Amino acid sequence: MVDLQTQYQHIKNEIDRGIQAVIDSTAFIKGPQVSEFQAHLEQYTGAQHVINVGNGTDALQIALMGLGLQRGDEVITPTFTFIATAEVVALLGLTPVVVDVDWNTMNISVDAIRKAITPKTKAIVPVHLFGQCADMEAIMQIAKEHHLYVVEDACQAIGAQYTFKDGHTAQAGTMGHIGCTSFFPSKNLGCYGDGGAIFTNDDELAEKMKAIANHGCFVRYHHDFVGVNSRLDSIQAAILDAKLPHLNDYIANRQRAAAYYDRAFANNEHLLTPGRDAQSTHVFHQYTLRLINVDRDQVKARLAEKDIPAMVYYPVPLHMQKAYQDPRYKQGDFPVAERLASCVLSLPMHTELDDEQLAYITSAVLAAVK
Ligand SMILES: *Cc1c(COP(=O)(O)O)cnc(C)c1O
Repeated sequence: MVDLQTQYQHIKNEIDRGIQAVIDSTAFIKGPQVSEFQAHLEQYTGAQHVINVGNGTDALQIALMGLGLQRGDEVITPTFTFIATAEVVALLGLTPVVVDVDWNTMNISVDAIRKAITPKTKAIVPVHLFGQCADMEAIMQIAKEHHLYVVEDACQAIGAQYTFKDGHTAQAGTMGHIGCTSFFPSKNLGCYGDGGAIFTNDDELAEKMKAIANHGCFVRYHHDFVGVNSRLDSIQAAILDAKLPHLNDYIANRQRAAAYYDRAFANNEHLLTPGRDAQSTHVFHQYTLRLINVDRDQVKARLAEKDIPAMVYYPVPLHMQKAYQDPRYKQGDFPVAERLASCVLSLPMHTELDDEQLAYITSAVLAAVK
């Protein structure tokens, strides 16, 4: 699905130099690499504040803690996403309210958000699924009308650009009150371990979330609230700082591969290519097909015979997960998400795909659905 080895070989000198400098300094935690990367990521994203944390799940948790939500407050999330989005909501004693998604973009449905709002609703957590922004203009408008917070789960979408109707643009993670991203190795900007970041343009929230990530203290050994310990280590920061200047090229490579897939599958009755939202670029964390009238397991098996991996992201929507059973929800409540869960298939998508590989994969996919 990814080729992190070839990607590393292209920038080996920069990466190795960065790692060695950390080892030489032995400043493994809070080394200068961490604040340098933070400044560079602020420049890249346009976020006023970047707070580096231990992983994307922590970023989401700290964001919700920063908003000061209370037990029982409702948080709206899409039911078709990675589990972390709802996990942190449940973990904090908040109530996840799941809603359906749009068939074409696979992102959270704005109509469904409107219908799910109650007097207890305090926040919306849209997910920019597979690398394309959710309908942020509409979501921010709903949030404004109902005095809700918006925490963007931008773990799959770093670098995606959203254009508002007045023409101004903003990056994934910088449009809501808070944005969260992950540097998990296979993410679009991946480190060589775990890492994550929080974005915000709110000075006060930034200070508070920085303190929460650091055991709840502004002044060392003086703890103002219960926090967590979540930080990006210096080696990961050095790796990310070496990779960040390449991110736009990495995105372009992914988009090029996606365009190849699009062309190859355009006229096939069994393959629906990923729908695009005119307001957002797509950075293709995943290239996810919807298979129509064809057995997904069989397609997967046929691809596997040719050593082509293909993955199902995600086979079970949140409301059908054992851990998230809720008497309010039953099978059939979120038909789009349920249909997607049964028909999506993600193809290899990474920065190193060449035409030869793409030709091999696309002809195998076309043969597999015949
Ligand atoms: C990867 C991911 C996360 C969690 O990131 P980690 O760094 O693995 O904790 C959260 N949400 C989404 C949508 C993701 O893809």
